Amino acid sequence: MSISDSISTIHGVGPKTEKLLQKLGVYTIEDMLLAFPRDYKKIPGISSINQIQGEREYVFRVQIVGTPVIKRTKNLQLVIARASDQTGVIEAVWYHMPYLKNQLLQKRECILYGKTVYKNGSYQMEQPEILGIDQYHGMCDGLQPVYNLTKGITNKQYTKYLKEALESLWKERDFLPLSIRIKHGFMDRNEAIRAVHFPENMESLTTARQRLVFDELFLFLLKMQRFKEHNSRIPNHFPLPQDNYGAELLQKLPFPLTKAQKRALSEMEQDLEGPDTMQRLLQGDVGSGKTILAYLLMVRMAKSGRQSAIMAPTEVLAKQHFDTFFGWNEQFGLEIPLILLTGSLTAKQKKVAYQKILDCPDAMIIGTHALIQEKVVYQNLALVVTDEQHRFGVRQRETFSGKGMEQPHVLVMSATPIPRTLAIILYGDLDISVVDELPAKRLPIKSCVVGINQRKTSWNFIRKEIAQGHQAYVICPLVEESEDENTELEDVITYTQKLKKYFPDFSIAYLHGKMKPAEKNDIMERFAANEIQILVSTTVIEVGINVPNATVMMIENAERFGLAQLHQLRGRVGRGDAQSYCIMINGSDSDRAKERLEILNQSNDGFEIAGKDLKLRGPGDFFGIRQSGMMEFAIADIYQDADVLKLAFDEVKDYETRCLDDPAQVDELLETQLERELERQEKRINL
Ligand code: ADP
Ligand code: MG
Repeated sequence: MSISDSISTIHGVGPKTEKLLQKLGVYTIEDMLLAFPRDYKKIPGISSINQIQGEREYVFRVQIVGTPVIKRTKNLQLVIARASDQTGVIEAVWYHMPYLKNQLLQKRECILYGKTVYKNGSYQMEQPEILGIDQYHGMCDGLQPVYNLTKGITNKQYTKYLKEALESLWKERDFLPLSIRIKHGFMDRNEAIRAVHFPENMESLTTARQRLVFDELFLFLLKMQRFKEHNSRIPNHFPLPQDNYGAELLQKLPFPLTKAQKRALSEMEQDLEGPDTMQRLLQGDVGSGKTILAYLLMVRMAKSGRQSAIMAPTEVLAKQHFDTFFGWNEQFGLEIPLILLTGSLTAKQKKVAYQKILDCPDAMIIGTHALIQEKVVYQNLALVVTDEQHRFGVRQRETFSGKGMEQPHVLVMSATPIPRTLAIILYGDLDISVVDELPAKRLPIKSCVVGINQRKTSWNFIRKEIAQGHQAYVICPLVEESEDENTELEDVITYTQKLKKYFPDFSIAYLHGKMKPAEKNDIMERFAANEIQILVSTTVIEVGINVPNATVMMIENAERFGLAQLHQLRGRVGRGDAQSYCIMINGSDSDRAKERLEILNQSNDGFEIAGKDLKLRGPGDFFGIRQSGMMEFAIADIYQDADVLKLAFDEVKDYETRCLDDPAQVDELLETQLERELERQEKRINL
């Protein structure tokens, strides 16, 4: 078995399981090895049976009493055993595992590890693991991985597959040059991969993770460095005339720009009029109004007879931009051709779009990844804008900026609040403009963090808002019901049913990443038109969606999201003149969770939130809640790993200098790894 083999080579992975794994983005053994645990748990200490205090995980050291029995019903086969310790007796039940009967008979004294459930007046254990006493003690230091899974695969099953997948690693050589490994005392890569899945203790997990974070950041920065090398200072092939047209446009705007918007706009216009091609990052918190700025630049390009294109990470967002631009064009009395190009267009529609791109030298083109496909030939592309840049791989951004005949101006937009020092590293050579102000008329969003006992109250609150003509979002962490016995997370499908029962008079729909783009578009359009009042969604809604009439954002299991992500979600409301609200339901009783969410409760400023979040996190906090919504790294977290980022940056510069001095220094193994990593990055983002 080798790491590039299909997962179907693993024992027990048949066609059905393979499909499920593919849903998780796991196609090869390597995919599986590099899909890191989302959390870890420690095996609990031994309790006595008379200490049971509810439906929870317990470990009991027991004797099996009497002979276990096998019971058969129509479609169930149960093994039932009675087990006792000095303090009491408990019944344990297993489904469809008749062979356990003999195993239990031989065991007599053993450890039962599993969840208690209350049934018919007493507690039972359901499907507990049966462990030997020594085996249990051997596991006590270790951490058990918990994976992001989908219905149909249990954590136990997945862990078993993973153990087998690890065996393929012995053939793999470490790609990181030995000198770097020694210098920083890094763990061997294979060892690190093994330890990150099955750490012996916290310390080995930390060391292992450090190594993998370095790898990821090193490869990312290496790519950035190269991207920048052939991009730095290119003469401006498409200078804009320095006329009054920009100022005239501003007169016609439906709202005055904020000071920050004006400043950023003038910085960008200077680029476009100046001697060098623009290479700029436009950073601005959610709702700060970046879209209109991109639009204004694109209009000026069109006016000077050139094409421009804006790429969005999702179809829904691309469609939204198209509609918005269409509206603005009408309002301004502009007759600029607009072209929409997304993956879900039919082959015929695509052909029409390609032809239009060839025929209209002054078109404004709006789309998704479809914009960078080979088939698309631009004839006069002068400006490329990437919206929500963190949702694209480095290579995709590079391809986009390589689409013109001559190097077009490049603008990337991002709501990720990154301190300047980190931004300079992460974005290579890009100049940075910041929109650090929200439009004036906005009322600050009112937030609150409540427990699940306030769910009904929150629903009633939503009812009131809807009665006034507004709309609401409800976010759940899962798409469908989870099989993982240890989670009680809300899921979009079940939640929608519950809401429909509670609000029979409202139109309610759901949205999640696994739906077809056309379906998603349809739902979003109906939500935008207020034909749907409550939209239940996963975090797919987090990027860029703009429905100003929505005034409530309710987030279930808020404790499960990164603060940056919660901030993004909250940014979906408060986009119009009406007062908006964000209700975070905290499904955990931990003080830490409360403290974290409190940060969000008290601040509306992305920068401040990210900073405080970092301060609150301790050494063991790098798993569980990841800062997704920032940049799509598999394991690195740019905030927490800022030090490693700087380290990797220095090593990348070093490596590049060596290679420039002496091409024989180019490391083949490393270069291959870089290509593979870039592919994985794209796959991951598109998941
Ligand atoms: P983001 O920066 O998060 O992409 P958008 O560009 O979607 O934000 O803008 C959010 C909303 O604010 C949009 O409805 C937009 O039309 C509006 N908007 C943008 N600039 C202003 C402004 N200066 N005054 C009032 N509303 C504005
Ligand atoms: Mg936006």
